[in-house]
Amino acid sequence: MEENQGVWVFIEVNDGTIEGVSLELLGAGRKLADKLEVPLSGVMLGQGVMPLANEVIYAGADQVYVVDHPVLKNYRTESYMKGVCVLAEKYKPEIFLYGATPNGKDLASAVATDLSTGLTADTTMLDVDVEKRLLEASRPAFGGNIMATILCKKHRPQMATVRPKVMKALEPDEGRKGIIIEEELELREEDMRTKVLRIVKDVTKKASLAEAHVIVAGGKGLGDIQGFQLIHELAEVIGASVGGTRDVVEAGWLKHEQQIGQTGETVTPKIYFAIGISGAIQHVEGMKNSELIIAINKDANAPIFDVATYGIVGDAMEIVPKLIKQFKELSK
Ligand code: FAD
Repeated sequence: MEENQGVWVFIEVNDGTIEGVSLELLGAGRKLADKLEVPLSGVMLGQGVMPLANEVIYAGADQVYVVDHPVLKNYRTESYMKGVCVLAEKYKPEIFLYGATPNGKDLASAVATDLSTGLTADTTMLDVDVEKRLLEASRPAFGGNIMATILCKKHRPQMATVRPKVMKALEPDEGRKGIIIEEELELREEDMRTKVLRIVKDVTKKASLAEAHVIVAGGKGLGDIQGFQLIHELAEVIGASVGGTRDVVEAGWLKHEQQIGQTGETVTPKIYFAIGISGAIQHVEGMKNSELIIAINKDANAPIFDVATYGIVGDAMEIVPKLIKQFKELSK
């Protein structure tokens, strides 16, 4: 285990673009690497990905391992696992982070199995015990009732998948210098057991909440599904996405994918309207990193006001129609 050194981040590339979560992990990885006084490396696989290597350096890495190969054109567990494991066995990182995206989760679990090491899934906090050189990967456990910090004491690398939008990416610094290491890998298409025949994009889905710049979120304070229509109307007028608390999802006013919070989506919009939402810790966990939070609640002591940038104490049924009217006039 003493041989293992350095913090690695798997850089996920889709449609020629680095996934946001990979940049966020470089931000988080930078802090861990600095504490441990080791280099931070990105690991990027794909076809035609070499031109993206500098972006990884600008985002905080000291070096990037790049495997550019036609067999890696599309993500497949087998080829990516092979590539990543070959590199990990050669260079022996002590910490290895992946985005908790569908591909990141799939890859991390396959790599953990192959390298016979541990993996903490869906992490929301990362730290490191410098003395013991242990990654402290924390995540909600027991249905979100407690936070568990998980250690991998006896195996290396220590691996974790991390939820998108939880960590902060660094401002890209084009002046940063780093090393790009191109790795050759023996991969043959005929050895692959799976083939990607075509990729069908789901065009029916609206822009996901995680990507939204403005979100209007409503809670039980809207009274009933009719009252909740005000949330949809306000969102429509200002071009925002709609979200809500677990209680409104359970009441059937919104779909499950619109739930924001610890057991729903984590969001970081520029503006977050929290209307008729009490501000329970499980909800706040999913929205507290929004840039600007505007809360409307008739209870001046509602905990949502503790995280709000602006708070309006009053009846949503009176305030929201006025907002809708004002925004409509402004957009004329
Ligand atoms: P309430 O707590 O009932 O709050 C309603 C608010 O509306 C009150 O503050 C009230 O003052 C205000 N109000 C009432 N009438 C008006 C009015 N006319 N005008 C203005 N304000 C008004 N919750 C989530 O949201 N996301 C999660 O991911 C999540 N995960 C959970 C996981 C676990 C394990 C547990 C135990 C709970 C979880 N919860 C989650 C539930 C959470 O604890 C709260 O119960 C929930 O967030 C409360 O929803 P709410 O704010 O809509 O309702």
